[in-house]
Amino acid sequence: MVLLLLLATLQADDRLLTRPEVRKALDYIRASDEAHLAKQVQIAEIPAPTFHEAERAKFLAAEFRRVGLGRVEIDKQGNVLGWRPGRTEKTLALAAHLDISFAPGVDTKVRKEGGRWYGPGLADDSRGLAALLAIAEALNHAAIQTNRTLLFVANVGEEGMGDLNGVRYLLGESPHRKRIDSFISIDGTDPGRITNGGTGVKRYRVSFRGPGGHSYGNFGRPSAAHAAARMAARIADFEVPAEPKTTFNVGKISSGTAVNAIAETAVAEVDLRSNSPAELDRLELKFFETIRLAAEAENARHAAAGAQVTSEYKLVSNRPAGLTPEDDKLARSAKWAAEATGHTVRFNHASTDSNYPISIGIPAVTLGGGGRSDNAHSLDEWFEPKDAWRGPQTVLLAILAYD
Ligand SMILES: [Zn+2]
Repeated sequence: MVLLLLLATLQADDRLLTRPEVRKALDYIRASDEAHLAKQVQIAEIPAPTFHEAERAKFLAAEFRRVGLGRVEIDKQGNVLGWRPGRTEKTLALAAHLDISFAPGVDTKVRKEGGRWYGPGLADDSRGLAALLAIAEALNHAAIQTNRTLLFVANVGEEGMGDLNGVRYLLGESPHRKRIDSFISIDGTDPGRITNGGTGVKRYRVSFRGPGGHSYGNFGRPSAAHAAARMAARIADFEVPAEPKTTFNVGKISSGTAVNAIAETAVAEVDLRSNSPAELDRLELKFFETIRLAAEAENARHAAAGAQVTSEYKLVSNRPAGLTPEDDKLARSAKWAAEATGHTVRFNHASTDSNYPISIGIPAVTLGGGGRSDNAHSLDEWFEPKDAWRGPQTVLLAILAYD
């Protein structure tokens, strides 16, 4: 009787941990840790730069079949889909991204040095893809029946100019979009870090165009390079709030053809981010004004030249900002799961595939796939497999607690 009372006072979620089939699934994940690490390395060695994910997609489709997912397909956008039916049609999408933030031709060979493994995209997001497989295997191994149908997704287009095109298609256009009522992305490694806020990102390509001419003979004409530099200097002095975190970056400037020619063209790529949609709008307006003022200043300096620099800009990437509140059931389930696997939880904002579902009102979080890592998006990206099984365990528990 005392025991019953005690059990009744336990959170419903905590009772999950005592269910034999759940224990069986968790034990399976831990016991197969090395096999999952080997799978992660195998995935990472198949190159998959954004817009060139097809080869890795084909591999994941075969893996989805191997782990027993149903109706495996590669959709119109290039996403790999595999289903695990639940008691209802209502669907939770569990995703990890196929693409890596590197140019085609990058050497994806993984190498081991001491306790660390190195490889471009090895953690981001080959870890997430391996975790998808681990979770599907564990659910089947323990014959766990869920209420929701689970849709496993290895999606394209998360990085850079991919602009979330895979998840955007899945949830915005695909025939399955109406069934999906919740979304978990596995990205990054730390299972204690729960990304429930989507950082808004807007990227622009700015072009300046001028008359050109000889640097000496035509001195006095306005220069596209100088206009771009004026713009960059003004942006560099922008004041932005520390909270909500708001940032700017002139990431690329290219211009001109020769040192003794007045530049005819200049192109700059600018990245603006904020955790607050209102702050991002404010920053964007200031940025538009800055482009105009930079061209005006360059033209005013050379008013006598009779020729002008013109400017134009184009939005090349747009990721909406938004939040799955910490008291939302999905965020609470993820927090409970991360604590149950021994982590201290930190909620955080980032730009991930969850941005899109959050922006259209679907609860979404991004969770770590396990292990430790750093230097994502650089050739020095590393992964340490210490206790890596805790990643798939956490995600599995989050799914079950939410379900
Ligand atoms: Zn990633």
